[in-house]
Amino acid sequence: MTATMGETLLDKVWRAHTVRTLPSGQTQLLIGLHLIHEVTSPQAFQMLREAGFRVRMPARTFATIDHIVPTVSQQRPFGDVLAEEMTVHLVRNCKEFGIPLFDLDSGRQGIVHVIGPELGLTQPGMTIACGDSHTSTHGAIGALAFGIGTSQVRDVLATQCLAMAKPKLRQIRVERALARGVFAKDVILTIIQRLGVKGGVGYAYEYAGPVIEGMSMEERLTVCNMSIEGGARAGYMNPDATTFEYLKGRPFAPQGAAFDRAVAWWQSMATDAGATFDDVVRLDGAAIQPVVTWGINPGQSVGVAGRIPDPAEAPGPERVTWREALAFMDFKVGQPIAGTSIDVAFIGSCTNARLSDLRAAAEVARGRKVAKGIRALVVPGSQAVAKAAEAEGLHEIFQEAGFEWRKAGCSMCLGMNEDKLQGREVCASSSNRNFIGRQGSPTGRTLLMSPAMVAAAAIAGAVADVRELLR
Ligand code: SF4
Repeated sequence: MTATMGETLLDKVWRAHTVRTLPSGQTQLLIGLHLIHEVTSPQAFQMLREAGFRVRMPARTFATIDHIVPTVSQQRPFGDVLAEEMTVHLVRNCKEFGIPLFDLDSGRQGIVHVIGPELGLTQPGMTIACGDSHTSTHGAIGALAFGIGTSQVRDVLATQCLAMAKPKLRQIRVERALARGVFAKDVILTIIQRLGVKGGVGYAYEYAGPVIEGMSMEERLTVCNMSIEGGARAGYMNPDATTFEYLKGRPFAPQGAAFDRAVAWWQSMATDAGATFDDVVRLDGAAIQPVVTWGINPGQSVGVAGRIPDPAEAPGPERVTWREALAFMDFKVGQPIAGTSIDVAFIGSCTNARLSDLRAAAEVARGRKVAKGIRALVVPGSQAVAKAAEAEGLHEIFQEAGFEWRKAGCSMCLGMNEDKLQGREVCASSSNRNFIGRQGSPTGRTLLMSPAMVAAAAIAGAVADVRELLR
């Protein structure tokens, strides 16, 4: 289909994947890539079996094990009976329905949102679905990627389609340039703080502007990953030379002449000059500081030099949540966030466990020691990330500093394996959610920040400004 002038990537990808308009007014959208994992797929496969369906497009479906996988020893059977059971189910379902599985012995296992781009499965112009909220990550490659629930996983398995309403589109432009010590995580936390955790409801976000265009692919993945935390249905960046360079040579990317043909099509899917948006928001990238969350949602954050805000100054509907957050986190109004003692430091998750994240944290940890009494974990996002990091000696830098070097998985992002906070512990975390109970303890407290800031906090034993530790 030929694109008309002035269209956005959202328009073009949506149109290219529309099967028909449903009586409900929603679009029946073809899904180009379906990624599955052990937690949200067992029930979906069961429903599929009961309905007597097969998987409609097994060649467009890929599985990995990430959420429950242990990170100390991954020897089967796992010590955790439930984790072992979920894994057995996934292996069996993949075998029965002919779905490729990146198992623990594949060298390709890892967090679903890390391995998709890393293997070149995620490509520009695609529609992607996965039974996990942070599927928005894949938008960094120039795809429309949607997190879905278990019954939708069933629908995609059975039909390779989803019924969806087309979202509105907000372009978020990040202008000028970031200062040293300010990372992609700080950019997205600032966006969410500015627009609110519900600010993106009904929208997809197109990220643009010099700061975004200057980012590496891994930095872009961090930004898109947290679109959902700002309430957006999806988030994407337009594919460009950085995207194509990143994809070249990856195992599932087109090879040789097919790659060049693909690049021409991928370029044609980018938003046209002159396209219009439902809303445009501009941020000054040069004004962004290293950010730390102080509350119980990712929008409750301040710059590291800032102080805990007064709920009386919160936008009306948020006053109650701010008060709840202060009480839960045990913060006082006006208290500086820097200096807040931590118990645990976690570098990992689909937001920030790629090679460049580990490099940035290792740069801070190199030649320094984790403060006494702090439990510090580094959990690579995939087996490939672990291998690349080990080839550079990053694991030794972390271990010499006193961090534990773990095997790939979601780990303490959500504490579905043995990596959990205990009691009221405070965790400096490079993950994406600081909801109450998220890290495995109903009373545990999470402070979100960039991986370099987590490393700085581990060394100081408290929230610290990474800019003072950069060499
Ligand atoms: S790392 Fe966290 S957010 Fe990402 S897929 Fe795993 S559990 Fe979900």
